[in-house]
Amino acid sequence: RTVYLNGDWVDETEARVSIFDRGFLFADAIYEVTAVVGGKLVDYAGHAARLKRSLAALDIPMPVSEEALLTLHREIVARNALSDGGVYLQISRGAEDRDFLYSDALRPTFVMFTQARAVLDNPKWKTGIFVVTMPEGRWVNRQIKTVQLLYSSLAKMEAKRQGADDVLFTEDGVITEAGSSNAHIVTKDGTLVTRALSNALLHGITRASILDLARAAQIRVEERGFTVDEAKNAAEVFLTSASAFVMPVVAIDGQPVGNGKPGPLTARIRDLYIEDRLANAI
Ligand code: PLP
Repeated sequence: RTVYLNGDWVDETEARVSIFDRGFLFADAIYEVTAVVGGKLVDYAGHAARLKRSLAALDIPMPVSEEALLTLHREIVARNALSDGGVYLQISRGAEDRDFLYSDALRPTFVMFTQARAVLDNPKWKTGIFVVTMPEGRWVNRQIKTVQLLYSSLAKMEAKRQGADDVLFTEDGVITEAGSSNAHIVTKDGTLVTRALSNALLHGITRASILDLARAAQIRVEERGFTVDEAKNAAEVFLTSASAFVMPVVAIDGQPVGNGKPGPLTARIRDLYIEDRLANAI
């Protein structure tokens, strides 16, 4: 692959970042992932807007203009002839001798790479996935998309050891989100319930889009916390992310959700999302 590193296009085997980079030493970095389908960027505006919010929250300067950011996305897709997959970008505060305190003059480290993957033809979409619940263990500012992903990574490994595909984090009796996606339930009366935005969860771009589309399609939406028991007894449970769009959950802690098959409202929301956001991909 050709990757982007601080203004240069280089082969992935040539790209080097300093061992003093604060992204490496302190996880002092933010990231974004934008899906690519048919060579086009899906929900790009939302991802670009969240990138700015994440940088602002950590007081890291935006390394390029908004126009340049879009151009870089398009160029990395073109240079790698990427049809389906994603663009990953990471911006760290920069490199200097190790110290908890950082200087103001740091130049951010900005890297981008592509990952090819069948986004729409994900086989798990047809079967749904198994999840297990685990206590929340991440830091409290989960609305900032930082690279502090150690707890999520360990939790996903533990889920895999237990024969599951992903994890649902729980805190104070309610579900925050999944390992790398937002979690939603459909109640037996057909209401889509999703946790309200706060610092407890990442403000998913796919989440925001499906809520808009669901409301426009007259689907009842409630933004509130829901418990593990509510999720286990819901008609449907699904996850949203730029990586998998809308993914049905068919079992929680070994207990089937609904009839143990992907549900009809999940399918409808996935169709609404794909139809609208692919038509508006850039
Ligand atoms: N929640 C977490 C913890 C995530 O890591 C992600 C995506 O990476 C999401 C939610 C979904 O966000 P988005 O729809 O913007 O991809």
